[in-house]
Amino acid sequence: MLTIREYKKAESLEEAYTLNQKKSNRVIGGMIWLKMETLNVGTAIDLSGLGLDTIEETETEFRIGAMASLRALELHEGLAAYTNGAMRESVRHIVGVQLRNLATVGGSLYSRFGFSDVLTMFLVLDAQVELYKGGIVPLSEYAERPKDRDILVRIIVPKKNAKFNYQSVRISQTDIPVLTCASVKDENGYRFAIGARPARAQIYAQPVDKTAEQMAEAVRAEIKTGSSLRGSAEYRRHLAGVLVRRAAHALDAE
Ligand SMILES: Cc1cc2nc3c(=O)[nH]c(=O)nc-3n(C[C@H](O)[C@H](O)[C@H](O)COP(=O)(O)OP(=O)(O)OC[C@H]3O[C@@H](n4cnc5c(N)ncnc54)[C@H](O)[C@@H]3O)c2cc1C
Repeated sequence: MLTIREYKKAESLEEAYTLNQKKSNRVIGGMIWLKMETLNVGTAIDLSGLGLDTIEETETEFRIGAMASLRALELHEGLAAYTNGAMRESVRHIVGVQLRNLATVGGSLYSRFGFSDVLTMFLVLDAQVELYKGGIVPLSEYAERPKDRDILVRIIVPKKNAKFNYQSVRISQTDIPVLTCASVKDENGYRFAIGARPARAQIYAQPVDKTAEQMAEAVRAEIKTGSSLRGSAEYRRHLAGVLVRRAAHALDAE
């Protein structure tokens, strides 16, 4: 059970950061994951008064506040157009609309879950995270870091001339995924972010002159998978090939 002694609606990022330096205190996003933990929280630090729930689109990038909900990602027309629908596809299987209305992008990326559709998708978008003290760092680097006590402020997605796709395999519609695969094709070739291996998503790059079958074979040979309740390492390796082939066909289609 989660117990919270005190609650503070932060009035500034500095206040949130300072409170968060105390080990027993916790930032709260949508609290969807936190509330399932067995944890005694001293002060729950609420970021909801800091205007971090917006998604701004400029000519060159998207700036997504850490408190933006997964539902907001799903419904944002600019993100849908830029990602060829992949952003929507990456979140639409996550439990249900009510949960996606609460769960935040900040809580999702901070948690760096192996099964995370959100992390898989943002990795392939070449996203950066803005940390209050730590500044702007590539998400690929942030994902590998141990959790610290900085505040994730926003996620920055640069706009490029690229095409995106998202695929996942789930045993049932709203379960956590057995394997995730976000992909991009641009002038540098193809990149496939594959997550729920069951470890965290990793990028597999392939040159532009390979066929879908060759890329599937190459990723199958390279990928490191493991076994869990949802599938064996061998099954995941097989699925990785299937998803890469499907993604490559989708990226090549007009
Ligand atoms: C039943 C269930 C099924 C799920 N299925 C999926 C799935 O299929 N695919 C998927 O991708 N995800 C899934 N999720 C995860 C979910 O999408 C969210 O990632 C998760 O709930 C965390 O988001 P939150 O906003 O609720 O974070 P919280 O639970 O509020 O916080 C999680 C952690 O992040 C920290 N935190 C929150 N915001 C910040 C911030 N701005 N800066 C620093 N630290 C912060 C908190 O202190 C805490 O440690 C599932 C969750 C549940 C409960």
